[in-house]
Amino acid sequence: MTLLKSFKDLDYSEALESDKEAHEWLKLNDHRFGQLINGKFISNKKSKLIASLNPSNGKLLANIEIASSEQLDLAVEAARKAQPSWELLGGHGRAKILYALARLLQKHSRLISVLETLDNGKPIRESRDIDIPLAIRHFYYHAGWAQLQGKEFSSYQSIGVVAQIVPWNFPLLMLSWKIAPALAMGNTIVFKAAEQTPISAMFFAYLCEQAGVPPGVVNMINGDGNIGAELAAHKDVDKVAFTGSTAVGQSIRKSTAGQGKKLTLELGGKSAFIVFEDADLDAAVEGLVDSIWFNQGEVCCAGSRLLVQAEVAEDLHLRIKERIKQLRLGSPLDKSIDLGSLVSKTQFNRVNEMVKDGLKHGGEIYQACDIESEGNLYPPTLITNIDSSHPLAQEEIFGPVLVSMTFRTQSEAVELANNSRYGLAASIWSENINRTMDVAPKIKAGVVWINCHNQFDASCGFGGVKESGFGREGGKEGLYEYLKPNGLKSSKKTTALITKNPKNNAIDRTLKFYIGGKQVRPDGGHSIATFNVDGSHAAFVGAGNRKDVRNAVSAASKASSWSTQSGHGRAQIIYFLAENLSVRESEWIQRLITLCGVSKKQAKAEFDESISRLFSYAAWADKYDGAVHSAPYRGITMALPEPIGILAQIAPEELPLLTSISLIAPALAMGNRVVLIPSERFPSVALELVQTIETSDVPAGVINIVSGNKRELAEQIVGHAEVDGTWCWADQETIASIEAISAIDLKRLWVHEDNDRDWLNPDQGESLEFLRNATEVKNIWTPYGD
Ligand code: NAD
Repeated sequence: MTLLKSFKDLDYSEALESDKEAHEWLKLNDHRFGQLINGKFISNKKSKLIASLNPSNGKLLANIEIASSEQLDLAVEAARKAQPSWELLGGHGRAKILYALARLLQKHSRLISVLETLDNGKPIRESRDIDIPLAIRHFYYHAGWAQLQGKEFSSYQSIGVVAQIVPWNFPLLMLSWKIAPALAMGNTIVFKAAEQTPISAMFFAYLCEQAGVPPGVVNMINGDGNIGAELAAHKDVDKVAFTGSTAVGQSIRKSTAGQGKKLTLELGGKSAFIVFEDADLDAAVEGLVDSIWFNQGEVCCAGSRLLVQAEVAEDLHLRIKERIKQLRLGSPLDKSIDLGSLVSKTQFNRVNEMVKDGLKHGGEIYQACDIESEGNLYPPTLITNIDSSHPLAQEEIFGPVLVSMTFRTQSEAVELANNSRYGLAASIWSENINRTMDVAPKIKAGVVWINCHNQFDASCGFGGVKESGFGREGGKEGLYEYLKPNGLKSSKKTTALITKNPKNNAIDRTLKFYIGGKQVRPDGGHSIATFNVDGSHAAFVGAGNRKDVRNAVSAASKASSWSTQSGHGRAQIIYFLAENLSVRESEWIQRLITLCGVSKKQAKAEFDESISRLFSYAAWADKYDGAVHSAPYRGITMALPEPIGILAQIAPEELPLLTSISLIAPALAMGNRVVLIPSERFPSVALELVQTIETSDVPAGVINIVSGNKRELAEQIVGHAEVDGTWCWADQETIASIEAISAIDLKRLWVHEDNDRDWLNPDQGESLEFLRNATEVKNIWTPYGD
């Protein structure tokens, strides 16, 4: 009896990790850090400072100098100078340096873990066993890709100078996700850590020197959002890779609009954790511990929205309450605690206020223990009795707060999961594999975990859809974010773009829009005359307006079954399009000659290439089929290329037949529905294609065509909430304008200035680049075994 009682009363004693070495290192640096520019640590006594505090006790760890604009310029300049030789060093040379970085991180892993925990407040158990090992893995993995770059990416080259900005929740891990792939692919970097957690990045800066990273290849500047904004908008940066909040992602999208920069945004989330009645409920509870109570819930992909089937909701809630009573909060350096401190007083207050305000809209709260504001300790929290429109169910709390809702049927679960402006991740809990594999593709998110949550590995792409941003980090798919295709050059103009001396001869043809499988008159009743090269009238075409765009998008939306149709089925229709087009060869050749002023040979080349392009994408329709990543766990991770959904395509002015087909065919092959805004100079060509489309079994709404003023239509379609992505070939002003508009809902764009490539050359006019931009990779993690 006494023995049993003693066991029951036994408490954990404190098991603190030593922070001696970490404090010695901070002391060695006089508790102050400046910038790393061109391989040198630059300090300026007059700089404004930010105090980096230990969130568990409020003590100063180091003062961080805020970089000046001049220092930022110097960092970008150093990166620019260093880039050509870093790229020329070759894959093997870079692999050796990335490998050295991995080894050095491994050598100092305990010290880095402590620094990370001191700076961020996360439990030492997590920084030691998760953050730092994953960061190391990233450098090993990408050392491998550097080595293989020459063979695997021979048709790509480095982008150049990359600006990278990260948040505070996984400071070194986010650094490794950014720096390792960028370096591997031959880019140079200006990196900015979060102002709350810059210390592990400064430690990494020293490792760069030891690993032999040449001066200027990695530059690090410190500071808050202001210098972050300057860095993102810097005119001599070629790409911005940002991880952080959706609001800042939107402001970066706006500030870089029209700058011709490549952009990846890894933003916020409100990920669903879906528990079906046939799930192993105890496993699901443990999954929640790893999902929303890992890293104090300060995780972009935390399963913060529990969706549980009504039959088991009460049972699950009881089990959760029991389990969270056992979670221990305390000193982050204590090796046996589960939750440490939120990153700062500001974040602590934010979570606290958000929960208090949210509860004014209803809901019941259960907290396993008291809130301890002193150490920024916020308890594991469960909120029930709310519906999906409740602010706490929609907004990212970024703390250890789980909100729970119930559903009755599988389709309701999917609907609720997708009822969010975010689309980062989700997990599905069920012992029925058929159910999980049926639901996974229906979830609008970049990552889906089956019977697990928060699994990460360098070999598996991570990233979101919708307002969770665009682009992937990790895996082969993540490397393309740091590469651009080789040798795209402006094509020679093969068509006469301007018609001199239009003649008002009689017009014999009026071409309507093509919407929902029907030829439709313009809503506004306006038409535009189009001309042949000799100035004679070619045809009248409609001048589309907002309503026409809306109708076209609505038709595309109704054609959603195209996206679930098999690749084999789509291929047959695209082959059939080619077959039906080819019977009109002589007619088309004559039309191109008359309209565009090309020679017979040129017209034939354009026509032949158009047929060949249709064949190519019909061929790819059932062959562009993703990958199974080999992450180090008992399971498989499938990287599935999924259609983007509704794609707006703003066509180039060149080679109107070939370019229309070069846009539509890959999009269709990958299962998208399209709304094409044809060339403004030659809109009749796309509209003439309708006769072939109509006889080729293309389902209604899969291809829609609206002609008119290119810029106006482009702006309207990019602003349309139901359009999932836009491809655009246009002038700089139009591109700048649609990039700014896309900031509203962070629509994915693929933009190009007109004449950016030689469309007749299949290496440029048709490539995997088109298929990649017609798809979104979803990584589905499926562990196996007991
Ligand atoms: P934040 O957007 O405020 O800051 C992130 C970084 O951006 C910091 O370095 C900050 O200094 C800098 N910054 C701030 N304003 C800027 C501006 N106008 N221009 C350029 N840079 C600017 O985000 P946070 O509060 O530090 O981090 C939490 C957010 O990050 C959450 O929304 C979370 O979901 C998200 N996050 C996303 C991922 C992902 O992979 N999707 C990963 C981690 C965190």
